[in-house]
Amino acid sequence: MKQLRVRILGFLTIILIIFSILFIYMASSIIERQAVTQQGNDLSVQLRTLESQLNTDDFTQETVEQISTQLEATADVVEERITLMDSDGEVLYDTHAPLDTIENHFDRPEIQQVNEGEAIGRFSRTSESTGDTLYYVATSIVNDDETLIGYLRLSKNIEDMSGMTDQLIQALLIFIVVAITVALVFTQYWTNKLTTPLNNIKTIADVLSYQDYNVRYYASSYKEVDDLGQSINNLAINLNNQMNEIKENELKLKELINHLVIGVLVVENDKSITMINPAMKNVLGAELYSKVGKAFYEGLHSSELIALIEKAMKTQTIQNKEIQLVYPTEKIVDVNVVPIISESLETINYIVLIYDITEIRRLEKVRSDFVANVSHELRTPITAVKGFSETLLDGALKDEEVLVEFLEIIYKESSRLDAMVNDILHLSKLEQRQVSDVREKVRVKEVAKEVIQILHQKIEAKHISVHLEDTDHAELYIDPGHLKQIFINLLANAVSYTPQDGEVSLSIERLENDVRITIEDTGIGIPQDQLNRIFERFYRVDRARSRNMGGTGLGLSIVKWIVENNNGRIEVESVENKGSIFRVILPISN
Ligand code: ADP
Repeated sequence: MKQLRVRILGFLTIILIIFSILFIYMASSIIERQAVTQQGNDLSVQLRTLESQLNTDDFTQETVEQISTQLEATADVVEERITLMDSDGEVLYDTHAPLDTIENHFDRPEIQQVNEGEAIGRFSRTSESTGDTLYYVATSIVNDDETLIGYLRLSKNIEDMSGMTDQLIQALLIFIVVAITVALVFTQYWTNKLTTPLNNIKTIADVLSYQDYNVRYYASSYKEVDDLGQSINNLAINLNNQMNEIKENELKLKELINHLVIGVLVVENDKSITMINPAMKNVLGAELYSKVGKAFYEGLHSSELIALIEKAMKTQTIQNKEIQLVYPTEKIVDVNVVPIISESLETINYIVLIYDITEIRRLEKVRSDFVANVSHELRTPITAVKGFSETLLDGALKDEEVLVEFLEIIYKESSRLDAMVNDILHLSKLEQRQVSDVREKVRVKEVAKEVIQILHQKIEAKHISVHLEDTDHAELYIDPGHLKQIFINLLANAVSYTPQDGEVSLSIERLENDVRITIEDTGIGIPQDQLNRIFERFYRVDRARSRNMGGTGLGLSIVKWIVENNNGRIEVESVENKGSIFRVILPISN
């Protein structure tokens, strides 16, 4: 902005100087011309006076020379140069130069002008040798016959006008200095008025470039500058809005990525890891966080995963693969590597999405195992029913003893089949949540008593004594059907796997937030190494014995499912040939 001030001032100074020079030149030439004309007029008047004083009436061309006598008398009192010439232009008399040095003056312009009819011929000439400017006035001398007898000329050094021009220049110089000073002051004032708001606008633009969009321009100058400031303000407001929108979107995206259950990892073009979301910690281990900024292959332990990312980098295409990981834990993951390609078709980075599908695959396996197990379990009773009924049809029917025995077997096997199908259906209904889950306040003891009643035939048949204890009058907020199923399965097992005259005790205790149901028997117990397997579907410690008892191998898995879906847990303790203790802990209210 300083430049603008300097430029305006420089421009004004040059204009002033040029105009001043022009003015001096024109003024001095006008003054000079005026002065010369004035002096020429004065000289002409003098010439006329001199001529009138001369007595030339009786002279002829031959006697004209004698006029010089009259002139000599005058010459002493006249400063100007007086020259007398005859009618041919020969100089007869001259006050300032010896005659022999003077040439013929007939061709001189002032003489020619007289010859051409002018009363007074005038001419000014600058001497090459002295540099003086001489002004000549000439007139003709005639006698009383009006005959031209000669020429009289007066000449004078024209007064030097340079002094006057110097004064003019001095005055003009003073004028220029004053004018430049005034121009400087005004330039300073106007440029300040212009540059201060412009500097403000520049500062605002600088601040905007540092992403601070809260600065504003406040009008204080010319309309055009204020309009510019207003445009900058509009720009700042728009940028601010855009920045807020970007920040909001960034925040949303960040929240989304942080809460995704899928692991997200971003790899730059230079192979460095730039971002990892929290879910990735569960998939690839927490120490991956320390690898941010490093090459992706330093942080990953699966060569298959590294190869997949490298393939995406090489082919610039989306890659998908199911990979088995062994570190930090064994898992099956579904990996997608997505190259993010910019508008200029350059790849900016790669997003690696890892979805832990271990549980899905496990459930798939459980399901297919279940189908295999069901088919296997059903085959035994069906084969038995089919075999025995075939034998009967083949003739055994006629032997009444065999008939009754076979029919009993067929009845037993079909009952088992019925029980098994019922249990399978029950379990699948539970899993598909087709069983109504109506929670209500339930007195646990009442349900236990009801179940003892249901199973009383079985209990009495084996002379088993059942004790029920409930000192806390515990209550649960639960689906009563679920609670009943827990008691039926556990109590039925306790009775089934306890020999004649054994004991089964049920105790119900209220803990701080839970209710603990303990079912203890004095039965055959379970081997330690199989304790954690008895909750698996169709798992039975002693297959033949279980089958004999009418067991399906599904009772405990149904209990486990119900307990876990009510946010509880089931524990078991057992000593072979001494007895087992099953403990179910359920929260009072979910
Ligand atoms: P089952 O229909 O065979 O009883 P469960 O799922 O209820 O099937 O039980 C699985 C296995 O656990 C049983 O076959 C049995 O071997 C063992 N078991 C369950 N409860 C007891 C118990 N109270 N005492 C001894 N063994 C038991």
